[in-house]
Amino acid sequence: MSEINVQLKNGEPVPVPDSATVAEALKKLDRDVAKQALAAKVGGREVDLTAPLDTLRENGDAVQIEPIVPQTRDGLEVLRHSTAHLLAAAVLDLFPGAKLGIGPALLDDPRYGFFYDVITPKSLTEADLPVIEKRMKQIASRNLVYRREEISKGEALRVFNERQEPLKCELIDEKAGDVVSVYYIDGSPFIDFCLGPHVPNTNKLRAFKLLSLAGAYWKGDASQPQMQRIYGTAFFTQEELDAWLKQREEAEKRDHRRLGRELDLFSIQEEYGQGLIFWHPKGGAIRKEMEDYLREELLRRGYGLVFTPHIAKRELWFTSGHESNYADSMFSPMEFEEQEFRIKPMNCPFHIGIYKSAQRSYRDLPLRYAELGTCYRAELSGTLHGLTRVRGFTQDDAHIFCTKENVRSEIVGCIDFAFNVYEAFGFTDIKVELSVRGNDPNAHYLGSDDDWESAEAALVDALNARGIAYQRVEGEAVFYGPKIDIRVEDAIGRTWQLTTVQFDFNLPRRFQLEYIGEDNKPHQPVMIHRALFGSVERFFGVLIEHYAGAFPMWLAPVQIAVLPITDRVNQYAEELERELRAEGYRVEANLRSEKIGAKIRDAQLQKVPFMLILGDREMEQRTVAVRERAKGDIGVMPVAEFKQMARTLVETRALTNNQ
Ligand SMILES: [Zn+2]
Ligand SMILES: [Zn+2]
Repeated sequence: MSEINVQLKNGEPVPVPDSATVAEALKKLDRDVAKQALAAKVGGREVDLTAPLDTLRENGDAVQIEPIVPQTRDGLEVLRHSTAHLLAAAVLDLFPGAKLGIGPALLDDPRYGFFYDVITPKSLTEADLPVIEKRMKQIASRNLVYRREEISKGEALRVFNERQEPLKCELIDEKAGDVVSVYYIDGSPFIDFCLGPHVPNTNKLRAFKLLSLAGAYWKGDASQPQMQRIYGTAFFTQEELDAWLKQREEAEKRDHRRLGRELDLFSIQEEYGQGLIFWHPKGGAIRKEMEDYLREELLRRGYGLVFTPHIAKRELWFTSGHESNYADSMFSPMEFEEQEFRIKPMNCPFHIGIYKSAQRSYRDLPLRYAELGTCYRAELSGTLHGLTRVRGFTQDDAHIFCTKENVRSEIVGCIDFAFNVYEAFGFTDIKVELSVRGNDPNAHYLGSDDDWESAEAALVDALNARGIAYQRVEGEAVFYGPKIDIRVEDAIGRTWQLTTVQFDFNLPRRFQLEYIGEDNKPHQPVMIHRALFGSVERFFGVLIEHYAGAFPMWLAPVQIAVLPITDRVNQYAEELERELRAEGYRVEANLRSEKIGAKIRDAQLQKVPFMLILGDREMEQRTVAVRERAKGDIGVMPVAEFKQMARTLVETRALTNNQ
């Protein structure tokens, strides 16, 4: 019997019989890894553990085996995809005659981990999900084998036709080559047309849950048969699944679309258009605080505030390159006096317009232009989501024009600013990514190698200067330069990408930007794009969920509720309301003839930080009985003392009321 050499990455070659499977080879290489493995990568191809090695050998060299193990992205994909098969098996078992569509794993959807599209003889309801899940568990506990078979296309069509699976036949017809791989779960009624890989047996599937049911069309096309989509998720351990379910429940309670409605912060109105945000007065109050904070900081840090139009002549977008690279995301041009205009998807070319309005010298640089610039992008309706994915939004945008020598200190400035923003708004867990060029020979990058290297060095220098740990990600840079992305973790452990600081070799060249250097000659400036919140709308959505609507005093849309116990003190309540409002507080007196308990409950539901409860005694003594949102009653005090406390909280932009 002849042998094949196999090896793990960085490992020694080990001989195994050439009849061995991937699993057998792994066992010889590393017993522990073999036990854990779900599938493997051999020569860059993902394969089942049951795959015979000799079919995977490419040349005389040792066969490299990279096991796909739990707690990795590849592992999760195999696990979830295999669980989708289990779901299909349970559906077929329970509902004979069911027709199957597709069932992929979902890795980046925060709500689900996989789905399967099905048509059952009788429409499914939510009540069927626990029944299907139970059957999945029964099947899994029988430790059935996922078996791959390769058959001819004709044979595959015959098999699926016999099983009355017209949709699978359609897929095979369209996608399959001459040889088709099909997967059985032996001992279940399920066969799928699928490339794999899958887990070796159902014993590996231990922590899964079905989550919901939705309508779907075959191939996402409304003219095609209507199906039902069963969503579920799967993890490697029950602990992970439980933790995820708990976070999901918490996330639902914090959903900014729901809180936005309950707290009257914002709305989206179908009759005006999807993805367009209406900020109500209470949301507007928060936005004003966000903007005030930002503008103060911008001015302190030497930025100039600029304001630019929402539309510009179409030629501008040809010069900028948006017409050739970005047209799909832009709303169609509009015409007036035989000229075409476009509404802006980005602010960059406008700030360039200001730069170009005069001749610049090295002494003028760096120039930092900042704008809360409102942009519009043609996002497909299916992708829109509350405040976080919209069609109209305001970026806290800035563009810095500087010399090569300035770059490092400008980047340090951007990073410091970003961290300052996170601290101010209560985010402490921050992750930084440095996105650079990849090795993909087909990728097209602008700028010379020298440009890229010096730009990356400047970004690295800046991160090191501040002692910031970062992850370097190759191939994630945009074509016009490397960038730093910063994500924050919110109160329930979800991460959000907010800040981007980005180099640009492209626009300065396209717009022929220059400055006169010390040598009296023209030079091209470096351009840095940066947004810290990202967009004001999205950041607002993140804030709502981070605080679950219970904003700190400085951001709260209503900071103080004045609650008279009896009508006799209404006049005192109104005086107090006027007085506090005149001093800049957002205050509401509730003069309705209701029991004080109802008034307090109402203010609690609106998550108002402080309630001032007024009775006869408070009126006589010009005092207030103070109730704090989380702590409850904190005592009776003179009005001046309360104001002192409130003033400190607001002026320091305190994040808690524990001053
Ligand atoms: Zn599959
Ligand atoms: Zn820009």
